[in-house]
Amino acid sequence: MLGEIRGLNEECGVFGIWGHPDSAHISYYGLHALQHRGQEGAGIVVTDGDALRAVKGEGLVNDVFNEEKLKSAKGNAAIAHVRYTTAGGGGIENVQPLLFRSSTGSMAIAHNGNLVNANHLKQHLERSGNIFNSTSDTEVVVHLIKKSKKPGLRAQVKEALSLLKGAFSILLITKDCMMIARDRNGLRPISIGKLGDAWVVASETCAFDLIGAEYVRDVEPGELLVITNNGMEEDRFAEKEKRAMCAMEYVYFARPDSNVDEINIHMARKRMGKRLAQECKGIEADVVTGVPDSSISAAIGFAEEAGIPYELGLIKHKYTGRTFIQPTQELRERGVKMKLSPVVQVVKGKRVVMVDDSIVRGTTSRRIVTMLKEAGATEVHVVISSPPMKNPCFYGIDISSSEELIASSKKVEEIRDAIGADSLTFLSDEGLVDSISRPFDDENGGLCMACFTGNYPTEIYPDTVLPHEKELVK
Ligand code: AMP
Ligand code: SF4
Repeated sequence: MLGEIRGLNEECGVFGIWGHPDSAHISYYGLHALQHRGQEGAGIVVTDGDALRAVKGEGLVNDVFNEEKLKSAKGNAAIAHVRYTTAGGGGIENVQPLLFRSSTGSMAIAHNGNLVNANHLKQHLERSGNIFNSTSDTEVVVHLIKKSKKPGLRAQVKEALSLLKGAFSILLITKDCMMIARDRNGLRPISIGKLGDAWVVASETCAFDLIGAEYVRDVEPGELLVITNNGMEEDRFAEKEKRAMCAMEYVYFARPDSNVDEINIHMARKRMGKRLAQECKGIEADVVTGVPDSSISAAIGFAEEAGIPYELGLIKHKYTGRTFIQPTQELRERGVKMKLSPVVQVVKGKRVVMVDDSIVRGTTSRRIVTMLKEAGATEVHVVISSPPMKNPCFYGIDISSSEELIASSKKVEEIRDAIGADSLTFLSDEGLVDSISRPFDDENGGLCMACFTGNYPTEIYPDTVLPHEKELVK
């Protein structure tokens, strides 16, 4: 049971639109822009003001939808989702948005993030006779809404949301309205925009750029927005608590052209690279190269600050999928080999600084160091634009056990040895916080840094933690 819920929670992307005659097509483009947040499944639920209709499937956005399906999904509003799942967590029943039909009216829901009290709530609901169709904790939210005795959907949704703990950016749609909610710590990004008269909402602002929408603002922690044909109403389901936006969104997850809480990802990563160069003065090298795609911005910043030329030392083969989702170590290693190639002319006979955004298990760094050395690099200095990741994440990132994290058991020098680098430098905690440079007064500028520091912004419920990890979150 425990493994079931934990293994399934994931980093995803959500998109929604209200008040546009071609909602399905626009959602399809929106999902395209969010494809990097999930490649396992995609879905769109549209409403024509009368009924709700779902189109969804497993695989990439392009595999799931075609012109015929999009044309048949007529409606002036939609919510949509791309799903990222870990091994064993697939299955069409878990592809969102989840659509629930009932005599009191249908609703669909899409969710990004992970609830830390999903098991508690689920056990409670099961004891009182509820049956679950999927293993996703999104369904818990719908059951809570249905159980609420409050008058009217908005009050029921508010009551349900107020019971949730952890990370969530949720979209909900009925034939009459779309609701948007963000958890009280603001752990996952979500922004709203306008496309002409239509309202749009997306996990990342890069989706607005692709469809030509204008950014309006980010949804506030604890906020509930209700959009109907009469416009948008601002409401809250909870007071804002300690603001704690996921630092890994800035480091790795979000696309460089997105802005999260109004900070551009590319610029933040460039600052991380610059700061890293300041923090590891003394490396003598001939070229700087970044691991494509997520580390290019940091590598450019590092090269600029260190005064060492930035070069294209590694090429990424497109369309091979993410290495991280391969289930076994052996497959992961083969996956890394398939994905990247060195540019021999750039690295041969050179002292290379290799910038990557993070080290999780250490597989990627080890493979790349070996690859660069095989290609003739005389020295490989690995610099990482985030601090050592020592603690599991309970908020929807696929790092659910500290055993997977090389930095949880090894010191920097031991990791350097394990990956075969000539030197290894991580960005400091302060370096990361300063580089992201958020305008909020909360601790760390309102960032969650828990996987680096062990300081979790929310309560962690005992059964979301593996027994040997209990010590970590005391
Ligand atoms: P590893 O090979 O296990 O050390 O993973 C590190 C690589 O995975 C880095 O190059 C990152 O770009 C990427 N990465 C970091 N965190 C995650 C994550 N939660 N999911 C998928 N990939 C990740
Ligand atoms: Fe992000 Fe790390 Fe916090 Fe998880 S623990 S939400 S990955 S910063």
